Amino acid sequence: MRFGFDIDDTLINLREHAFHIYRMKLKKHVPIEEFHALKRVEIHEPFGLTDEEGSTMWNSSLEDIYYTDCPPYQGAVEVLNKLIESGHEIFYITARPKEHGERTKNWIKQQGFPVIDEHFFYGMQDHEKIHIIKELKLDYYIDDKPAILDTLSKEPIELFLKDQSYNRAATYNRILDWEEFLGKINNHTEVKK
Ligand SMILES: [Mg+2]
Repeated sequence: MRFGFDIDDTLINLREHAFHIYRMKLKKHVPIEEFHALKRVEIHEPFGLTDEEGSTMWNSSLEDIYYTDCPPYQGAVEVLNKLIESGHEIFYITARPKEHGERTKNWIKQQGFPVIDEHFFYGMQDHEKIHIIKELKLDYYIDDKPAILDTLSKEPIELFLKDQSYNRAATYNRILDWEEFLGKINNHTEVKK
């Protein structure tokens, strides 16, 4: 089977990591509960920033957000390695900007994720992910943004949504915890093999 994964906020806890960076940089100890209550992807509002200020803050913090010690979600590294061990193929599809693609790939490898260079795609817009995902003929695709899964809903791909506070209204198969993922797909893969 061919599995495709988004990276940020699907495999790694990027926004919460960025939230901690904002707290340090802005010297504002906004409670973490405010992060967990966010109803949108952007994290700047609890810090009292406008959308424009938030966008500037995000872009000027990108080096720290992307390349310091952002933790993978518990179980994510292990689950992807188990998929490889079981003979499945793994592809990464991230909308991180082109200039961050190769460094991101190396960073992801350093975290222990199994990466084949040719299976790592970056630099597209969110709505353009569908083209790569279709070309790759994926059997499974996992993302945190319902809008991306919506573009794929007519394709013969099994879709999963990584649970986040901003996507609770969506009705896709939801991953609360990576450790439960193999159990969720096992029935399907045994049937399809
Ligand atoms: Mg994402």
